[in-house]
Amino acid sequence: MESSHHTVANCIFCKIMAGEIPSHKVYEDAETFAILDIKPIQPGHTLVLPKDHFENIYTVPAETWARMHLIAQKLALVVKEVVNADGINIQVNNEVAAGQEIMHSHIHIIPRHNDDGLAHWPGKVTDQAELEKIREKMKEELART
Ligand code: ZN
Repeated sequence: MESSHHTVANCIFCKIMAGEIPSHKVYEDAETFAILDIKPIQPGHTLVLPKDHFENIYTVPAETWARMHLIAQKLALVVKEVVNADGINIQVNNEVAAGQEIMHSHIHIIPRHNDDGLAHWPGKVTDQAELEKIREKMKEELART
């Protein structure tokens, strides 16, 4: 049915989309698929993934990336309504160091409640000269792309 999509043999998301592993599918179109996270941070925690296998932000084509985010926006509103969320986090983990567990790129839609007890990442007080050094390096890198 969707056999034209690029899949990887041992990828759990590719297997889910091929129907080899059951899932709680909430959305599907020609390029995009969305399921409930099987171990939700909060009820309603949803994942948006491309049907083609791309490992992470470094390799997802820009058009696919845009499509994933359009669907994430649409589903964020649905999730908010269904679980009566006070807020929504949209998150993509890229590589193990950033918490990526399944190496098929996906967007997390995480509903939040005022009293959910989840911590936000703390900001660090930083030397402004250090920020300026990073900014300069980023400008140089951007000029190369
Ligand atoms: Zn995959």
